[in-house]
Order: sequence, then C-alpha cells, then structure tokens
Amino acid sequence: MKQVFFLDFDGTVTKDDVVATMVKKFCRPGWKELNDQWERGELSTEQVANKTFQLFDATITDIYRLLDTIELDDYFADFVQLCNDKNYSIYILSDGYGLLIKYILQRHGLGDLVVYANELVADNSGYSISCTHLNDQCGKCGTCKKTLLHKLKEKSTLAVYAGDGYSDTCVCHEADVVFAKNSLLSYCQDKNVPAIPYTSFKDIIQWIKKRPTNC
Ligand SMILES: [Mg+2]
Ligand SMILES: [Zn+2]
Repeated sequence: MKQVFFLDFDGTVTKDDVVATMVKKFCRPGWKELNDQWERGELSTEQVANKTFQLFDATITDIYRLLDTIELDDYFADFVQLCNDKNYSIYILSDGYGLLIKYILQRHGLGDLVVYANELVADNSGYSISCTHLNDQCGKCGTCKKTLLHKLKEKSTLAVYAGDGYSDTCVCHEADVVFAKNSLLSYCQDKNVPAIPYTSFKDIIQWIKKRPTNC
C-alpha cells in the first residue's frame, strides 16, 4: 500500500520549536500569560498568535537571522530522498507560520515540500496572523491537522503521521500509523492511541525500509 506522510514541523522536522525559540528571544514580557490563557482554552490560536506578535521587538530581518540558526533533524533530508524514490507524498502540517517554514526549508534545499500552516504577514505596521485552515469544530488547532489529513489523504493509502506535541493531539486519532515523541507520546499513552515511539527520522526510515513493498 502506498504511504503518505503527514508531518508536524516544529520539534519534528526541526530539532527545536521555532516559534518558541523566537518568542523567547524577541518577545517583551506578557507572552507567558497569553500562552497560559491559550492552554486553558480562553484564547483561540489566532487570537494568541496576533497578541503575541504584537509583543515582538524584532524586524523580519531579525527573525530571518534567527531562522538561519535553526537545525533540521539529522535524517530529515535522507527521509525526503527515500520518499521521493518510493513516490510517497509528504505534507507538512503546522500550527506555525508558512512564511517562516518555507524560509527554513529553502535554506536546506527543501523548498519544494508542500506546507499547510498559518499565514504570517510582515509589513510596515507590524505582523498579522490568519489561520486559513481553521476548523471551528476542533477548538484546539489554528491549522486543524485532522481536517487537512482527511482532505489530503488519497484513497487506499496508509496515512502516517509524525509529531511531538500539543498541536498533534487532534490529528493523531485519525492517522493509520502514528510516530510520537515527547508530549505527544505521553498523550497517546494516556489516551490509548497506538503510537510508535521514535527519536529521529532515522527510526522512520528504518520502519519504511522494513515494510514489505507490496503493503
Ligand atoms: Mg511540534
Ligand atoms: Zn484540529
């Protein structure tokens, strides 16, 4: 069976969470309180993102210089190559920002990857965010990964998801196979969602190579 890979970006494709790194470096005080309100469900992702970016003391150039330091998982490029060889599709589904994700991927020669994420616009008046893949029914995600997985999964394919955190908890119930680490792994264990623990894309590459080619 043909496999289709749906991947979280922050902490999954990258070693560290890009948004968290930016917030810690550039945000004036107040973001922690906003984050607490978001975790309690008092603010939507779109609201918290817009309010957090209003606290940013950084130009888009400052942000790009920080993004230049972001490292990808050591085996991610090999994973992409293997999927290309096998004709398996890859979709990056992120509750981060398309502009920043595309910048990082292009720097690593992976600008062709398909990304679904929130929209960040930087102009003279500052930053604004819109969640163009919002699902009102979900309540958890800005970019609802569950909705996207259903939309993008082709018939008779095996939907494989890999993630590491809160933004993956909505979608993990829907994938055929889940690779989980960090807080997503604890969530899957708590909720009895079958998940394969992994530490890097090396584990996923080995899993692909072990599967018989006809299934
Ligand atoms: Mg993540
Ligand atoms: Zn969702």
